[in-house]
Amino acid sequence: MKILVTGGAGYIGSHTVVELAQAGYEPVIVDNFSNSATSVLDGLRAILGHDVTCHRIDCGNAEALHQVFKAEGNIQGVIHFAAFKAVGESVQKPLAYFDNNVGSLLTLLEVMKDEGVTNLVFSSSCTVYGIPDQLPVTEATPTKPASSPYGRTKQMCEDIVHDTSGAADNTLHTILLRYFNPIGAHESARIGELPLGTPNNLVPFITQTAAGIREKLTIFGNDYDTPDGTNVRDYIHVVDLAKAHIAAVQRLLDRRASDIVETFNVGTGHGNSVLEVVKTFEEATGQKLNYSIGPRRVGDVPAIYADATKAAEVLGFKTTTSLRDSLASAWKWQLALGK
Ligand code: UDP
Repeated sequence: MKILVTGGAGYIGSHTVVELAQAGYEPVIVDNFSNSATSVLDGLRAILGHDVTCHRIDCGNAEALHQVFKAEGNIQGVIHFAAFKAVGESVQKPLAYFDNNVGSLLTLLEVMKDEGVTNLVFSSSCTVYGIPDQLPVTEATPTKPASSPYGRTKQMCEDIVHDTSGAADNTLHTILLRYFNPIGAHESARIGELPLGTPNNLVPFITQTAAGIREKLTIFGNDYDTPDGTNVRDYIHVVDLAKAHIAAVQRLLDRRASDIVETFNVGTGHGNSVLEVVKTFEEATGQKLNYSIGPRRVGDVPAIYADATKAAEVLGFKTTTSLRDSLASAWKWQLALGK
């Protein structure tokens, strides 16, 4: 059963490719390698013991996408990861984010329709909740204005999927997965997060600081209305997150979905502060981290974590990896990268 994975050479995409293959699917990667390295394909081969088909194309290129569907023949569904993902960068380059993230979804939906492919898992984000009034957030929590153009692209993409599904001639069945904060790496340390340049995200910044690549971590604010004053997030191990995609794909293929578009939070259901992450990293790895408190980062939501009940009850999805083990896996990956 072939599943097209756009952005399959990326961080979450590559881990999902592994889980798909190990669950008996045949993943087919589409990636333009704008924010990933071809060495990911070597890592996938090392883990799986065989090559994964990869088409180096841009998802916004309809003609090239058509050719992939035709060449592969029998694609049953698509997991659409391909997108820009840096909140801060999106504030600097909003048009690039709208063009790439919204544009590639529009192109993909057109091509899927033409090719008669009816199953889609879309990478959404907890950023669609904006600054929520209540915690934890459930899928029914009203979305608020996004705090960045990145978040807005995810809101727009969700709306596009809903409108497309509402059209009279619709054939599309979609599961929207709202990710919380993915961290860590595959236990083999053959694939993981590969930030280009200075990392924007907390955990790669922590591991690079511990490895001596960065001088120190700056914690963005400790004067928030949270238990220790630092931001609270729901950190989910990337392999757990990848597994949610397998459950979603299977649900779509089995036509078990109760609605033409279903939405699930994919998080652990627990919030951890930045300081807790730092302390847990130190305990898990024995590394002492150089850090200081700096000013707040524009666009940061004070606190957000998932109510993970719906994913558990409907998708049968539960996370199994602790924060400590997730951070240990990130460190193992950082050490492997250094070699
Ligand atoms: N963070 C930090 N220092 C950094 C990077 C991130 O204090 O160098 C904090 C950030 O303010 C947020 C949390 O770590 O509270 C997670 O940030 P990240 O960028 O990883 O994910 P986000 O939640 O913004 O998507």
